[in-house]
Amino acid sequence: MSGPTIISSRGARAADIFEAFIRGAAPDGGLYMLRDLPSVADIVTREYDRAPDFSRFSTEILDRVLGEWAPAGGWGEIARKAFPFAPHIREAGGHFLLELFHGPTCAFKDFGASFLASVLESELDRRGGRLVVLTATSGDTGGAVGSAFHGLKNVDVVILYPSGRISTLQEKQLTTLGDNVTAIEVEGAFDDCQRMVKDAFADEALSRSARLTSANSINLGRLIPQSLYYLWTVPALRASGIDAPPLFCVPSGNFGNLTAGVMAAEAGMPTSGFLAATNSNDVVPEYLRSGEYRPRPSIATISNAMDVGRPSNFERLSNLFDGDARRMGERIAAESVDEETTRETMRRYREGYGVTVCPHTAVGLAAADRCSRYSPDPQRPSDPTKRDAAVSRASSTASPSVVLATAHPGKFSEVVLEATGAPPEIPSRLRRALELEGESVRMPADSEALARWLRRFADHST
Ligand SMILES: *Cc1c(COP(=O)(O)O)cnc(C)c1O
Repeated sequence: MSGPTIISSRGARAADIFEAFIRGAAPDGGLYMLRDLPSVADIVTREYDRAPDFSRFSTEILDRVLGEWAPAGGWGEIARKAFPFAPHIREAGGHFLLELFHGPTCAFKDFGASFLASVLESELDRRGGRLVVLTATSGDTGGAVGSAFHGLKNVDVVILYPSGRISTLQEKQLTTLGDNVTAIEVEGAFDDCQRMVKDAFADEALSRSARLTSANSINLGRLIPQSLYYLWTVPALRASGIDAPPLFCVPSGNFGNLTAGVMAAEAGMPTSGFLAATNSNDVVPEYLRSGEYRPRPSIATISNAMDVGRPSNFERLSNLFDGDARRMGERIAAESVDEETTRETMRRYREGYGVTVCPHTAVGLAAADRCSRYSPDPQRPSDPTKRDAAVSRASSTASPSVVLATAHPGKFSEVVLEATGAPPEIPSRLRRALELEGESVRMPADSEALARWLRRFADHST
């Protein structure tokens, strides 16, 4: 029996998932893809009398898809360690909210970071050696990565963030971990942080001797676990009597989350399609409309984790549809949502349904609401001129719409308060970080300064 293969979007092969996870990007500059996936359709559509336990369900999927690369303790051990938290589903305004913010840093990125950390830890235990995870953050990624790798004995984590440009809470999440996690406060913008990290990886001698690895959103090790919660949603809905294949509405920036959904569909998950919801950074909606891909500088919005003008997963997503915009459009509809609509949606869901959502989730709900207007349901006005393929197919089968709730509203309390007039509840795990004293290393926006600082790890090289 032949298992899946790992091949870059530009052709390079990886021997196994560990190589792909440790490298992050492929040596040819492309993004690793998992190809020839065995089908998991039978696992997903089996009768469950209640929503399956997430970590047990995940183990079964991972055993099927990645069985030949099981880490020393098996996928069960990885899933138990990585997922002490789980997704939840709740209803709001005719949609299902798939809440993905019950992890340690209250955003969906905890799933990917936690899984990648568990796999790398287990693999490094087996082979010996250490790694330095080097990453730049504009806010959410750094916290999720820092928290996931915190306390691991064979990994050091170095996170660069732009001084004064992330929220107090985000800064506390990075700077209060300590131990093997160092936060570097760069006197510059996020672009400077990214450039410094890129330069460090490009310095081959440094990169090799310090054993640098990235854990950013192009890492296949973060996408695979994100496919798991899409798959889990199908039996979870079926257990409550909802059998029609769902439409997934995904608030998107770098398009990693959406790509993980498409990967789940490739593995046999029943779905009626995807709806990509963006803020004013609408490169992908434009591509689906015009067939032209025009990356450009990002625009700042209140859903700032989606302020991306050059989505890093676009190449991977495009590859899944052989670079054909029309074919992508058959599976993925896209909507761009402006700031005023985002605020209005937060207000409307709070007042109408008593549900407080973060601005990113609000972008998703606004997009889903717009599409349910195209529904054939006679109670709702429909506008056939606006129908597009994925959405009309979705609505004609009365698909339930599942909107991914990507972060807890308490993470964006200022924005939520301003839009809804009420402060969101702040989970205790976020409040704890706020009370601690943070610590960081200040650094000019200079690649040479970072290289000098990283050389302290260079003796780990054997
Ligand atoms: C990262 C992030 C997104 C965007 O996810 P992508 O995978 O980059 O498309 C959306 N919402 C929140 C809260 C995020 O942190």
